[in-house]
Amino acid sequence: MSLLFPALHTASSQTALRFGDRALTYRQLAAVASGLATKLDGASRVAVWATPEPETAVATVAGLLAGVPVVPVNPRSGERELAHIVADSTPAAVLTAPGAELPESLAGLPRTDVDLSEGEAEAAWGLPPEPNEGTSALVVYTSGTTGPPKGVVLSRRAIASSLDALQDAWQWTADDVLVHGLPLFHVHGLILGVLGPLRRGGTVRHLGRFTTEGVTRELSSGGTMLFGVPTMYHRLADACQSDPGLVQALAGARLLVSGSAALPLHDHERLTAATGQHIVERYGMTETLMNTSVRAEGPFRPGTVGVPLKDVDVRLVDEDGTRLPAEDTESVGEVQVRGPNLFTEYLNRPDATAEAFDGGWFRTGDMAMRDADGFFRLVGRKATDLIKSGGYKIGAGEIENVLLGHPGVAEAAVTGEPDDDLGERIVAWIVPADPQSPPNEEELAALVAGQLAPHKRPRAVRHLEALPRNDMGKIMKRQLPGQA
Ligand code: ATP
Ligand code: MG
Repeated sequence: MSLLFPALHTASSQTALRFGDRALTYRQLAAVASGLATKLDGASRVAVWATPEPETAVATVAGLLAGVPVVPVNPRSGERELAHIVADSTPAAVLTAPGAELPESLAGLPRTDVDLSEGEAEAAWGLPPEPNEGTSALVVYTSGTTGPPKGVVLSRRAIASSLDALQDAWQWTADDVLVHGLPLFHVHGLILGVLGPLRRGGTVRHLGRFTTEGVTRELSSGGTMLFGVPTMYHRLADACQSDPGLVQALAGARLLVSGSAALPLHDHERLTAATGQHIVERYGMTETLMNTSVRAEGPFRPGTVGVPLKDVDVRLVDEDGTRLPAEDTESVGEVQVRGPNLFTEYLNRPDATAEAFDGGWFRTGDMAMRDADGFFRLVGRKATDLIKSGGYKIGAGEIENVLLGHPGVAEAAVTGEPDDDLGERIVAWIVPADPQSPPNEEELAALVAGQLAPHKRPRAVRHLEALPRNDMGKIMKRQLPGQA
């Protein structure tokens, strides 16, 4: 790896970033980010108040140019979480868009407003020499789905290698115009969604806030790729029923990518039926960046997260720590990953870092099966999605997929509950499509028993108005009523 962003050095007049009516060319981005980088020089770490605005992207690039690790902070975090992140990462300053109002925990830090107009002047600027590849580039906090967020230290090498592996899998080029409306404080929206196009020399068009109208507008005016989380694809699938403009826009895209959580099969099928497109699923984590993906040229296997990316080793390990042989297409094992894409450490958590590794292999905590062609099928997280019932180990995901296929079910989550007889019994939490006439319990149990196996049927069905979800649309199972 030499430069992280070769295109910044070309000073081209191609658009690098566009957020609504605010845009920066590569030349302007280089000018404003290099000016900002000189102000950061020598800082240990800086926080970025990561609103969905161009200032967040510029501040992140400036930190990377200066070799100062950037901590993107979720502006929607509660005060407690913010206080934890600030105390844990001890940023020397906070970078924000002008006018941003900062909460208490950040307001005490020295503040630098990112002034995009400095790019207008295009005064004499020079890019500093890039730091070496082992340097920490970002500290990204995990989504907090299974516990308090952990600060994940990512090197320049990890970021470059993961983005290049995606280039290989997705045939991602400088001609690509990426459309997305993801938040800019996680791997998906910030590293893939902003640093990805910048590394390729392409363009990011950010929607500010995700709307199906925004997707239609941007994809039908030059956008080539769309990144989204499953809740966004669910909304797109719904909107396709009555919006021919959206159908046409999606049908014309080069690549539609989903990640961060499992894409329900039902939504995938509805989108394919409406648009003729396959959704490319990829699987990654804050700690590992990207591990596997369906390739742009196929083959497509809905319900799988594809094959290992270039330079990434993926293995499945059973409960005794034994590696499952590649021919084993029946067993579920924990996904373990090795490669240049891995994080350096959890910030201030040497014990957690040590525990997370098995030799050089990172234990993801995700459970999966592998088919004969090497495609991985995630069945869920070891901690929350694996139910031990009647001597069987059952993944919540496949049951959720069947339930979501029922027209009366809008959302579904499956958990295990202690049971004297079975060890655990399967419980289905559903959001009925029509609260006035929720689907009948026996019918749902029979549907699952018929499509999967009788022992996988839910023994109880509970209704909710909505499932607890985080900013990425991930279901927070530990926040379901009565869960630990
Ligand atoms: P925390 O580690 O704080 O509990 P988190 O694991 O949700 O939160 P992230 O690092 O943002 O934080 O998410 C990584 C996890 O997201 C993976 O371990 C996996 O469980 C899930 N995930 C990512 N992509 C996919 C996918 N395509 N299909 C299913 N699950 C996915
Ligand atoms: Mg995690």
